[in-house]
Amino acid sequence: MKKSTTAAILLVFYIFVLCPQPGIHSLAPPSDVRDFSYLKFVRNATDLPLQEEYDYIVVGGGTAGCPLATTLSANYSVLLLERGDIPTTYPSVSTVEGILENFMLEDDGTTPLQRFVSEDGVANVRGRILGGTSMVSGGAYSRADSEFYKKSGIKLDMNLVNKSYEWVEDTIVFRPNVSQWQSVVKDALLEAGVRPDNGFTLDSVEGTKISGALFDNLGRRYGAVELLNKGHPKNLRVAIHATVERIIFSSKASDPSAKGIIYNDSNGRSHWASIRGKGEVILSAGAIGSPQLLLLSGVGPKSYLTSLKIPVVHPQPYVGKFMRDNPRSNIIILPPSPIVPTYSQIAGFTSDFDIESISGTPYSSQAYSIFPNPTIPVTINSSFGFFMVKVRGPILSHGSLKLQSSYDAKVAPNVKFNYFAKEGDLSQCVSAMGKMRDLLKTNALKPFKTRDLPGLEGFNLFKPSLPMNQSDDASFCRDTVATHWHYHGGCSAGKVVDGDLRVTGIKALRVVDGSIFNSSPGTNPQATLMMLGRKAKKPKRKSIAAASAVGMVASLVDFNASPSLSSQSFEPPFPWPTEKSIAYGFFLSVNGKPSVSR
Ligand SMILES: Cc1cc2nc3c(=O)[nH]c(=O)nc-3n(C[C@H](O)[C@H](O)[C@H](O)COP(=O)(O)OP(=O)(O)OC[C@H]3O[C@@H](n4cnc5c(N)ncnc54)[C@H](O)[C@@H]3O)c2cc1C
Repeated sequence: MKKSTTAAILLVFYIFVLCPQPGIHSLAPPSDVRDFSYLKFVRNATDLPLQEEYDYIVVGGGTAGCPLATTLSANYSVLLLERGDIPTTYPSVSTVEGILENFMLEDDGTTPLQRFVSEDGVANVRGRILGGTSMVSGGAYSRADSEFYKKSGIKLDMNLVNKSYEWVEDTIVFRPNVSQWQSVVKDALLEAGVRPDNGFTLDSVEGTKISGALFDNLGRRYGAVELLNKGHPKNLRVAIHATVERIIFSSKASDPSAKGIIYNDSNGRSHWASIRGKGEVILSAGAIGSPQLLLLSGVGPKSYLTSLKIPVVHPQPYVGKFMRDNPRSNIIILPPSPIVPTYSQIAGFTSDFDIESISGTPYSSQAYSIFPNPTIPVTINSSFGFFMVKVRGPILSHGSLKLQSSYDAKVAPNVKFNYFAKEGDLSQCVSAMGKMRDLLKTNALKPFKTRDLPGLEGFNLFKPSLPMNQSDDASFCRDTVATHWHYHGGCSAGKVVDGDLRVTGIKALRVVDGSIFNSSPGTNPQATLMMLGRKAKKPKRKSIAAASAVGMVASLVDFNASPSLSSQSFEPPFPWPTEKSIAYGFFLSVNGKPSVSR
């Protein structure tokens, strides 16, 4: 054989066999043994000193906060503060069966799913556990779509973005064994024209695909908490049951700079943690927690803060604004014979909407926020195939977040999303309902009819369901709107934070979580959040300019910051609180409870 022919054969072999397809590289290896080494970093906040100093403080041990703290710990001392517990306390967060159980756990103030009702009247939930909402999510994992990269307002270097995704995926992402119901869903989507068939891919591209999963094939959940296993043993400290109450700023009113935070432990004692040198406070408390903390700390609309008698540290008109939630509509088939329960493994992705599905067995306790009405418990008495239709957006309708307490971070703020206030969102939903009609007419779904009737007829559909008359679809969208749990905004990029995710007008303060998004990335946002928390590689000092162009937030930190990790003596950079000492407008009383100066 000629040399050139051999080379050509080798090249073809490389391209089609060895070279990984885009979006697919090595995923997490199957393992019999779970790695809980992150536990060695974790302390109950009650066991931590009342005063400490670190290079970086990350507020919120969630989907973005965990990888961020791990990444920073490679070079800096890091304190990660999480208000919730560790996952091992709640077995339901560790298994695929637990997805539904979590929704049923009564919220006692410490359980992993915190319940809330938006002012729109829609039941919703947010994560309250180390690992954050990734530990209670549906487990579907998909990278952002190309439009998101172009329009996010975040500086992104795609090479580093991809490396960061891979860092996450090597540890916690699996290719699912597609169940029988999910195969039917895939066939139905393709038959209904949600094409092409993209096979298995982690990318969010138009068509139908098998998504990545945070569940291994033994049904065990992995999440952002496992990314802490890679933390630097000497540099990372994780505090649980630590509720951050507010950010402390330097006393220079004209040029505010974050200096640290105050957090409360479960005994109600206040702890102060400050940053040293050129370190930073980074908020990763989620789309509700981060704007709440900025407002509580005096960063927000001036007249609003003044009306609450919160001293204004920095007027910022957009904190708590542009709160968005992707509307969800449900179409639920009650089939003639049982379907094996499965989590969402398939995604149909179009420019207007996404369609995913789960299946399950009858349940009789209220699964909070699966259905929108918080007061009427809805249960399902038979096996079901549950289509969840997400209006993709970018969501045009938006609302705002308002504090319910002007001093207590434990009191959840009020949020309003104004679902379907803008016509464009409604037309995306109507278009999705049209596709659902096509889907229900497919041969793939015929065996799930209870009667052999043509077209849409013959299904036993859970009520309320698709109207008989297509012209009623808009009312159906409005009347039954639920949350798809991908709410975002409140510290929007381009409004509250700049492209490097720094809070504009304040030094040493960034936000890295879903609150910075102007639109929800891809079919599912958690991949993008974990990617943002990761830096690919510490740039060499001489390439600091290059670092400012990279996308991963931890790469954006100022690498001139003192990397000193030695246990230096603690010197607070602000006056230590005594009975009436002032920490930028906030007085602290002797019992440590902050009270607002009036
Ligand atoms: C039920 C449900 C299912 C979902 N399913 C999927 C899915 O299948 N795939 C997908 O990609 N996305 C899914 N999502 C969305 C996704 O999980 C979230 O968008 C994402 O996890 C949010 O990440 P985050 O880092 O912004 O916030 P979080 O992960 O919520 O992290 C914020 C953390 O900060 C902590 N915190 C808040 N305030 C304070 C404070 N004051 N002090 C200390 N700690 C604080 C919280 O306890 C929390 O742990 C789902 C969401 C929900 C609710």
